[in-house]
This record gives sequence, C-alpha cells and structure tokens, in this order.
Amino acid sequence: MSNISEKDPYYAEMKELKELENRRTLIADGDYELPPTRCPCGGRIIEETSQIEADVGRKYLTCNVFENDGLHIRKIWVHAIQEEVTKLKNEVSEQSKQIRSHGFYEYQINEMRTQLANNADEIARLKELVASIKR
Ligand SMILES: [Zn+2]
Repeated sequence: MSNISEKDPYYAEMKELKELENRRTLIADGDYELPPTRCPCGGRIIEETSQIEADVGRKYLTCNVFENDGLHIRKIWVHAIQEEVTKLKNEVSEQSKQIRSHGFYEYQINEMRTQLANNADEIARLKELVASIKR
C-alpha cells in the first residue's frame, strides 16, 4: 500500500485507510507523547473520571472527542503517570551521566590551565635567557 498512485481510482479511499492505519499505529505504540496532550486525531486530551458502574472513580486521560473506534487516545490515568515517571527517570539518569562527564571535562580544562600557566612561566624565563645572551 506504500506505492499508491493518484491515478488509481481508489486513491482517496486508500489514502484515508493509510491515514487511519497511521493513527492506530501511533495510539498502539503508546509513546506518542508522554503525557499525551493531543490525540492523533487533533483532539485535546482531558482528564475524565469514569461514571460507569463497574469503573466508577477511575481516572482516564481521554481525547475530548473520544469514540471507541481505536482512533483516539484513552489511557488509564495511573498508567499514563507511571509511563511519565519512567520517562522522567530515564531522562534524569541520562542527565546525571552528562553531568558526570562534564565534571571530567572540567578537570581536564583545569589541568590544561595549569599547564598553560607553567608554559607561560617557562616562555618568560626563556625570553629573559635569550635577552641575556644577546647582551
Ligand atoms: Zn482523538
């Protein structure tokens, strides 16, 4: 279905099916956006508390135009928060690694500063030596 041509009489229909499939894939992958603020349909994500008898009080993150057709986001709120916490933990871990490597670079920069200062002293001493030889 990836090589659909505009000349094909079913082009519009096939294009629409492909778009629906893309939306289903985005929703099924789950990592569309954490926490989701937009549904792939373009709808806003709102917090909703279930009023269904078997599910009363359970919170959901739901597309504001949700229909149960597999094309809209509807996540149990706790699961969305757990996913977000996992994502944030991974980000913090990654940033900690970067901070540690920055510490290493800072150490190297300080070492280079010390060497540079020593080199400047050495150059000044050598200039004096050359000057004294010329006299
Ligand atoms: Zn939607």
